[in-house]
Amino acid sequence: MTVDFEAQLRAVSLRVTRPRLAVLAALRDHPHVDTHTVIALVRDELPTVSHQAIYDVLQALTDVGLVRRIQPAGATARYESRVGDNHHHVVCRSCGAIADVDCAVGHAPCLTASDDHGFVVDEAEVVYWGTCPRCATAPTS
Ligand SMILES: [Zn+2]
Ligand SMILES: [Zn+2]
Repeated sequence: MTVDFEAQLRAVSLRVTRPRLAVLAALRDHPHVDTHTVIALVRDELPTVSHQAIYDVLQALTDVGLVRRIQPAGATARYESRVGDNHHHVVCRSCGAIADVDCAVGHAPCLTASDDHGFVVDEAEVVYWGTCPRCATAPTS
């Protein structure tokens, strides 16, 4: 799948800048990374960009919905560029590894609450917790 980041930015009326493109590319190649990892990845490409500039880019992209911020309980915030499909995550209790889980029953069906109590629901947050394969097979001492 090829993604035209410049078109994505223009579609939300954000100016196309190299840091913005670099953050989107970093998140495409490395989903579910934390802020520090995003900074390291972007500065690999663009060594002169400041930490603050990258924080600002993450904030701006999250605000317009091009980037999704996820924060499992007790974990640091992670970012991903797979947005709009209301997918879920499975998180390893042991090492914090995160993987995507498609909605089990079609497109964003979790938005249909069994009883919405009259609320207008726009997001369903489901986190599956468990042990990742690497941790499950690691020898216990
Ligand atoms: Zn693990
Ligand atoms: Zn994800």
